[in-house]
Amino acid sequence: GKVDHECEVLVLGAGPGGYSAAFRSADLGKNVVLVERYATLGGVCLNVGCIPSKALLHTTAVMDEVKTMAKHGISYGAPKIEIDQLRGYKDSVIGKLTSGLAGMAKARKVKVVRGLGHFLDAHHVEVTLTSGEGQTLTSQKEVIRFEKAIIAAGSQPVMLPFMPKDPRVVDSTGALLLKSIPKRMLVIGGGIIGLEMATVYSTLGAQIDIVEMLDGLMAGADRDLEKVWEKFNAGRFENIMLKTRASKAEATANGIVVSFEGDNAPAGPQIYDLVLVAVGRTPNGKKIDAALAGVVVDERGFISVDNQMRTNVNHIFAIGDIVGQPMLAHKAVHEGHVAAEVAAGEKSYFDAKQIPSVAYTDPEVAWAGLTEEQCKAQGIAYEKGLFPWAASGRAIANGRDEGFTKLIFDASSKRIIGGGIVGTHAGDLIGEVCLAIEMGADAVDIAKTIHPHPTLGESVGIAAEAALGHCTDLP
Ligand code: FAD
Repeated sequence: GKVDHECEVLVLGAGPGGYSAAFRSADLGKNVVLVERYATLGGVCLNVGCIPSKALLHTTAVMDEVKTMAKHGISYGAPKIEIDQLRGYKDSVIGKLTSGLAGMAKARKVKVVRGLGHFLDAHHVEVTLTSGEGQTLTSQKEVIRFEKAIIAAGSQPVMLPFMPKDPRVVDSTGALLLKSIPKRMLVIGGGIIGLEMATVYSTLGAQIDIVEMLDGLMAGADRDLEKVWEKFNAGRFENIMLKTRASKAEATANGIVVSFEGDNAPAGPQIYDLVLVAVGRTPNGKKIDAALAGVVVDERGFISVDNQMRTNVNHIFAIGDIVGQPMLAHKAVHEGHVAAEVAAGEKSYFDAKQIPSVAYTDPEVAWAGLTEEQCKAQGIAYEKGLFPWAASGRAIANGRDEGFTKLIFDASSKRIIGGGIVGTHAGDLIGEVCLAIEMGADAVDIAKTIHPHPTLGESVGIAAEAALGHCTDLP
């Protein structure tokens, strides 16, 4: 058949994984085609994920902080919320970043084909071109012949089957549209995405219930970290229902009526103006005809890869959310670099010692490497160093001393194997712990590193001092 483009490397999907792979491939001298169905590059992360959520979380964190200034003798009036302008701010942030990516693609001569792609065989992808701002499919198709392909088609939110199709029932993408501020809102799912959006909407004035099937929020984080977040946020939410699930929902003129089952189910059905379903994400593996290229996709839609990001087909790679947990942008980026390098003949492989997780809530909760829970489950003998921010001069000056910094060391090698931080800016602070784990640092290395005083960052050095049994006398 006809072939419209030929390339050495085809990348399917332009999220953090895909654009990183495409750019690295081009930098390594390859001729690259990047296929993307969205109007803009950046995937979920830039368009409907990491970035818009942080634009909103920044805004609401400032709103919350301003309220505390009265204690410092500085008073402001009640906030006046212009929701269209707030949405505009968020969209302008996305716009800056996606246009930046478009420029980077152009500078590297990466050919972007806009449309929905699927495999025809192990060397061809057919793209149904899209047009307009949205993803309107045209009748035009283009065929691309490739030598190597990198699948980076990502994931999408899971919707609960019993939820009515109604504009008042949204997933994270819908919640980020910020159409209006509901009076009463239900967040289904107490994971990072649900809690971040709950934080935004509660500061904007919504009265929020959270329902979670597990016996705790923020699954994956050590409970001591999560407890600090929970205590700080005790007044923020109406009702947090653990070990409970939404079981039925009905759209009525007055709102979405939701029934619950489980340990903490309310006496009867509850009525909400907005319901956010944040119960997880499902990979897009079943939608790209991978089987026609011989690539195995499991029943959930994941594609398995080796540590060089190769699928079962030698010249086809897969990266990012579509290869499995954790579904995080920074993991996708690093996998994208490995796939591009291996496709270009380099001997790279993915061997990260740690992949950090961050809940950008208020306070932030961040962790990297092994948690204490994982150490216990795996029978790893560990020692820890903990520095409570109640002894940090900077945290006290900031009026935010509820947090702590914890480092986890292997008891025999004394090397750092994990760490967790809860407090303002924890997500930024965890980077040093990530580096320490990758470098195989031990408590002495970290304790002897002179950190600037007074900063929240020095809490990492002092936690290492604590692990060594030294006096932590440096607020
Ligand atoms: P994606 O970003 O999903 O990109 C895949 C791309 O492929 C999409 O653009 C899609 O349109 C395109 N595509 C799919 N199929 C086709 C096809 N057949 N043809 C053409 N194009 C196709 N992660 C973090 O690390 N930090 C955060 O703070 C964070 N916050 C988040 C907040 C929210 C609300 C959400 C939803 C997610 C968040 N994530 C965060 C997760 C992060 O967005 C994902 O892990 C990341 O985007 C995955 O990158 P990816 O390249 O694998 O795929």
